[in-house]
Amino acid sequence: REQTDPVLQLENINVNFDGFQALTNLSLQIGVGELRCVIGPNGAGKTTLMDVITGKTRPQSGRAIYDQSIDLTTLDSIAIARQGIGRKFQKPTVFEALSVAENLELAMKGDKSVWASLRAKLSGEQQDRIDEVLQLLRLEGERARRAGLLSHGQKQFLEIGMLLVQEPHLLLLDEPAAGMTDAETEYTAELFRTLSGRHSLMVVEHDMGFVETIADRVTVLHQGQVLAEGSLRDVQANEQVIEVYLGR
Ligand code: ADP
Repeated sequence: REQTDPVLQLENINVNFDGFQALTNLSLQIGVGELRCVIGPNGAGKTTLMDVITGKTRPQSGRAIYDQSIDLTTLDSIAIARQGIGRKFQKPTVFEALSVAENLELAMKGDKSVWASLRAKLSGEQQDRIDEVLQLLRLEGERARRAGLLSHGQKQFLEIGMLLVQEPHLLLLDEPAAGMTDAETEYTAELFRTLSGRHSLMVVEHDMGFVETIADRVTVLHQGQVLAEGSLRDVQANEQVIEVYLGR
């Protein structure tokens, strides 16, 4: 596989919470169109890493260069989202009382009030994008359904759709397969492979079976540092990784 330009270059990131060092000199690079998995035991710093990229946590030092030009550590989270960085948390947060299509419309129109957004007409192009996303997420049949009535997995898909209608360049996903059925997990893997290339993805995941089916490259975090990086096969054979996971 050819090396692409980096979409994100984290350089020597340090995060300290009241004396507790959550990330230490963390450097990590993600290529355009790459699908990267980040794994590591509880407390390794995975969430903090996502928080730094999305502007929720400001590091004490280090830079997060996006698209080879912008240092994200100088922007707030709204400005970072506007740069085309979308984040999905583990728990789906859809508008339960609204229909599936309305959820996508709102996400697409963004910052206006809910009711003003719903009244504003979509352009033909926007409508096409919503149709495309519904199809991609296998939710065409649910378009008029109240989001609150969807299964847990369908809500997860809808939330990914709410990011996709905003045409993000970089997607950050926290345990996207958690709580999904086997069939939904399998489709999520297929979806991510489809999305990579057009989008860059960083996925935090615990389910090794899922990691195995999706990732080109895996980064293992441990105690706020990168312990190993490479193919899943390589990192699983790494002595230090084995020690951390199996306590040998
Ligand atoms: P992971 O997502 O890999 O489980 P986290 O990034 O959530 O790890 O946490 C890394 C470490 O930083 C943990 O030991 C956690 O307790 C600590 N931590 C995270 N956020 C804060 C905070 N706001 N204040 C103090 N400690 C924190």
